[in-house]
Amino acid sequence: MPKTIIIFFGPPGSGKGTQAQMLAQKTEWKKISTGDLFRAEIAAGTEAGKLADKYIKAGKLVPDKIVFGLVEKSLKQKTAGFIFDGFPRNKKQLNELLAFFKKILKKNDQVYALEVAVSDEEIKQRLSQRRMCACGKVYHLVYNPPINKDICDICGGRLFIRNDDKPKVITHRLKIYHSQSKFMTDYWQKQGRLIKIDGEQPIKKIHEEIMEKLSELKLI
Ligand SMILES: [Zn+2]
Repeated sequence: MPKTIIIFFGPPGSGKGTQAQMLAQKTEWKKISTGDLFRAEIAAGTEAGKLADKYIKAGKLVPDKIVFGLVEKSLKQKTAGFIFDGFPRNKKQLNELLAFFKKILKKNDQVYALEVAVSDEEIKQRLSQRRMCACGKVYHLVYNPPINKDICDICGGRLFIRNDDKPKVITHRLKIYHSQSKFMTDYWQKQGRLIKIDGEQPIKKIHEEIMEKLSELKLI
């Protein structure tokens, strides 16, 4: 049975993680998200987990060597397909992953990149309306507002704006995203393997568009 690999990418706040999850549930393909891999290793107390934890706690990116070790390990799972979420995130990681695919993939296996496209304006709007509580609950002033202004429904704590969601930081995050995603878009476009999805629709609609396009490509 040929395998299908779908690499999700999109700006922060595009909802790609949610969509990757929905697709995984529908298809029973395995989702590979570096965040999940780190959490699992940390919880299991492995060497890689301990190392990853150190970098995450210091607010640094986990080195590629650790990331690739974990990705390689999870690609050994028995499944008809894999969904990558949040990885590869730049040119270097993509090139390394492609070299690795060359070694392990068979002729009929299919790799596609799926871009959840959302304009910068919309991302700024979405993230700047996000409010957090120290208890972990996340609100959105338009889509998911608290009952009382600035107060958490669950614990009564005062809501705050995450540093990452402040306008200046959002602009910076988007700049980094664009500088890194340009290579991805160009590469997959040239291969004829870029699936572009309009990420500015309701969540359910986005999911439907993804299913439609994968079906057109006979991947599902
Ligand atoms: Zn709370």
